[in-house]
Amino acid sequence: MDIDEAKIRFLRHGQLDRVKFIEGLTRKILPTQLKRIQQNDKTVLKDLVLPKWMDWELIYSWSNKHKVMDHARPCILCNNREEVGIDYKGKFICDNCFLRIKNWD
Ligand SMILES: [Zn+2]
Repeated sequence: MDIDEAKIRFLRHGQLDRVKFIEGLTRKILPTQLKRIQQNDKTVLKDLVLPKWMDWELIYSWSNKHKVMDHARPCILCNNREEVGIDYKGKFICDNCFLRIKNWD
């Protein structure tokens, strides 16, 4: 099942905790882990704490909507050119800064 279909289904069933979980995934999964998911590397599952309903197909589908770029880009926070990071509202944030932000909450 596609991640968007899954979200709609969860909404219909009133499973808002699941929808919330999916929407919070970007903060739970590190960019390096995201990359491994996109590469269909299931060993990453050992490093992730996912609920049972979140199967590989779902997480894989989710990961493909959160592309990690393969080329180094300037980070909007530290200005370093980094390859690994995330897109946040159309801006690039490198892995290091992402970890810093993640530790804020
Ligand atoms: Zn940075």
